[in-house]
Amino acid sequence: MTAVSTSLSPVDLRSDTVTRPTPAMLAAMSAAPVGDDVYEEDPTVRRLEEMAAARFGLEAGLFCPSGTMTNQIAIKAHTEPLSEVICEQTAHVYLWEVGGIAFHSSASVALLAGERGRLTAEQVEAAIRPQNIHYPTTRLVCLENTHNRGGGSCYTWDDMAAISDVAKRHGLARHLDGARVFNALVATGQRGEDYGQIFDSISVCLSKGLGAPVGSVLLGSADFIQKTKRIRKVMGGGMRQAGYLAAAGIYALENNVTRLADDHRRAARLAAVLRQQPYVSDVLNPETNLVIFRLHDSQPAAEFLATLEQQGIKASSFGPQWIRFVTHLDVDDADLARVEAALQQVAQLV
Ligand SMILES: *Cc1c(COP(=O)(O)O)cnc(C)c1O
Repeated sequence: MTAVSTSLSPVDLRSDTVTRPTPAMLAAMSAAPVGDDVYEEDPTVRRLEEMAAARFGLEAGLFCPSGTMTNQIAIKAHTEPLSEVICEQTAHVYLWEVGGIAFHSSASVALLAGERGRLTAEQVEAAIRPQNIHYPTTRLVCLENTHNRGGGSCYTWDDMAAISDVAKRHGLARHLDGARVFNALVATGQRGEDYGQIFDSISVCLSKGLGAPVGSVLLGSADFIQKTKRIRKVMGGGMRQAGYLAAAGIYALENNVTRLADDHRRAARLAAVLRQQPYVSDVLNPETNLVIFRLHDSQPAAEFLATLEQQGIKASSFGPQWIRFVTHLDVDDADLARVEAALQQVAQLV
């Protein structure tokens, strides 16, 4: 077989975390004024935290190294031992954060089965524990938007607001894992400023579709963020001249949000091409930048991925026979054409 694409750089569809900073982003980073952020003396970190909080109608922000850290800090701040967190069974906070809810917060988790990761207000209400010494105390509802494992699915405003109302009525805190919340905003036309009315805290990744090399921000009220500073410190997340990294986040917020629509358009195109392939049995309708599809049982997944790799295309397996493609800042229309050609090529081989 001819390795047609080895001279071109690979098209990396494994994740939107693989993007590299552009020269313009690097220039913004190296020009950033910095100070010691543990002493609260880094003006660029402060600017990023204020800017991000304002985008979501919340008072304050906390810059952290990762989305896992922002989520786990928030969960710890909202709970105590013998309490319980309600989330969907494939939520990132439960599935992909190393069991951190148990480790950091000594809290229990009530897992609900959603539709592509989405819960309903009725499900959440039914999962709230009655007062009884045999049970943990329900403290927190954690939603994820867009939902990663659900294939970049988005909540409607009404469904999110209904869950928030139920939580509020029962005195529960509301956290949003918004690792890809900007994808949700761009796809649905919802306003970030409104989110602060229905969530007590929001975690936002800068290093996914927004293209920054490192960083997430946790957003909430001024009191809440003050409390989370000590938790970040004990987790080892206090950073010094972090303004160089925060500057990338500011650049991303200013330049890379509206272009997420291009990623969504390309994901829709990939889904359409996949649906035509004889070796594909199912494609989840892509609502944003994630395309999750299933190979027919007769098409071994490892072989499919190896064939793509030979064509210079990287993708990852997402469970037996399931594959995930992610579009992002470093995938352009020429790359898309290469992926389409490779997918047709697979059809010739099987
Ligand atoms: C990526 C991701 C995170 C955080 O991941 P880090 O790699 O720790 O930055 C959190 N939630 C969701 C839904 C994610 O996709």
